[in-house]
Amino acid sequence: MKKQLFYNGTILTMEEEGRQVEAVYVEDGKIKEVGSFDKLKEFEKEKDVQRIDLHGYTMLPAFIDSHSHIVELAAILRFGQLNMAMNFQEIVKIMKEKKEQVLLEQEQKNKEGRKEREEGQAKVPWIIGFGYDHNLLKEGRHPDKFVLDEIAKDVPILIIHASGHMGVLNSKGLALAGITKETKDPIGGKIGRVSGGSEPNGYLEESAFMKVASHMEEEGGDIVSFFQKAQNIYFQYGITTAQDGLTKEGGLKLLKQLNENDILKIDVVSYIDIKDSSHLIKENEEYEKRYKKHLKIGGYKLFLDGSPQGRTAWLSKPYVKQEGQDSDYCGYPIYTKEQVEEFVRKAKEEELQLLTHCNGDRAIDQLLEAQKEPSTMRNVIIHAQTMRLDQLEKVKYDKMIPSYFVAHVYYWGDTHIKNLGMERANKISPAGSTEKKDIIFTFHQDTPVILPNMLETIWCAVNRKTRDGVLLDQEECLSVYDALKAVTINGAYQYFEEEEKGTISIGKRADFVILSDNPLDIEKESIKD
Ligand SMILES: [Zn+2]
Ligand SMILES: [Zn+2]
Repeated sequence: MKKQLFYNGTILTMEEEGRQVEAVYVEDGKIKEVGSFDKLKEFEKEKDVQRIDLHGYTMLPAFIDSHSHIVELAAILRFGQLNMAMNFQEIVKIMKEKKEQVLLEQEQKNKEGRKEREEGQAKVPWIIGFGYDHNLLKEGRHPDKFVLDEIAKDVPILIIHASGHMGVLNSKGLALAGITKETKDPIGGKIGRVSGGSEPNGYLEESAFMKVASHMEEEGGDIVSFFQKAQNIYFQYGITTAQDGLTKEGGLKLLKQLNENDILKIDVVSYIDIKDSSHLIKENEEYEKRYKKHLKIGGYKLFLDGSPQGRTAWLSKPYVKQEGQDSDYCGYPIYTKEQVEEFVRKAKEEELQLLTHCNGDRAIDQLLEAQKEPSTMRNVIIHAQTMRLDQLEKVKYDKMIPSYFVAHVYYWGDTHIKNLGMERANKISPAGSTEKKDIIFTFHQDTPVILPNMLETIWCAVNRKTRDGVLLDQEECLSVYDALKAVTINGAYQYFEEEEKGTISIGKRADFVILSDNPLDIEKESIKD
């Protein structure tokens, strides 16, 4: 049995504000006792107790990720990384390098599988990039097929927007996806057109994009080693419970395989895509609402709209007018009222938790209208970026949990001011009002949209400062302690794991994060450092 005594640091238990202890005694990964060092030293009478000197550092319960996509992070680590690209030329350059690398690997594979190739079976590899953001590009718009054709015309290329809700194909990619000027926009999506005509320009939005992207799971090579990299990224940020927030057949198969082979070290809670993968729940009962090793199926995931920075979040009042868009443009829903009601009813009937992506306030209305009665399943509103204060009343009554993507304030706050106007941008992710109403809420980073950097998220919630240095509504700022709660005990509550995780208390799991400084004591400006 492994026995450890943690001491000589600041230990914040997160049980209540101001509570600190001197020492924690752990047996076999469980917290056996907390209290004064003198008292806990008594345990050293037992054999083989390992002392762990914290050297004055601060120890907290491990962070809990309340919404992200760990399998998708593994997948995109295989792709060209476009999140730092500042203009079209940089995208072209990064993607050219990626193309060389992919083609070289493919050549290698073809040599090994010469026979297949001779039979004409060899696959055409896609060249994929992830993470560009048109808001940050000098050109101020999405690239199109003409830009991507500069990289190559003879191999298919796809670049994916940072939101994961839209992307761009080159001409070859459009041809392979079968998108022509005759192809109509699918319901809940858009195909970009060359101006003044119906010829597709390569840009795909929402359902039009998802249809193409869902075929990319097999691209990019050995996913297992990339999954290990992804898992380590979460660990580096102090997270020991991660989410797979829209699991389909392939993703679940991979997670189960990693779990069976003991590659999965982090707890992963999977939410099954309710739209077309709900059969996976019945087929995997041993994972339903309980862990088998490190994997559990928490319930269903649904999404109702797009994103405010992509101007696809469904709002109750129009966006600030932009060239080429009607002045009454409010974004759009993905489903009808009846469809949403049916999804909510299905989850309730099966006693499964439902996580629903809603960015626009109209989408939140649609969900709240479908909810009908208080949720016993701790249903979660994911992102909830433009939550109105009047909606919080119903959220509280319905016992729903808003999970805010509060780092949006920093990353896209300036874009929100442009798209939504100051009044609405000011209130993005209204965590302060939510706290004042005594509603339990959590924070997430929607990784791979951004890295799962919890301290940066806390910094955002406490300071509400945009990239350009604009301070958004300071009424919505949180205290550091309340922000920490959102990523520890509240996260545990969201997963029905508050008896096991989220505070440093007797009987709970000994998963800790150790920081060089006490975030409650330092300047609130420097938390993220
Ligand atoms: Zn989402
Ligand atoms: Zn997400």
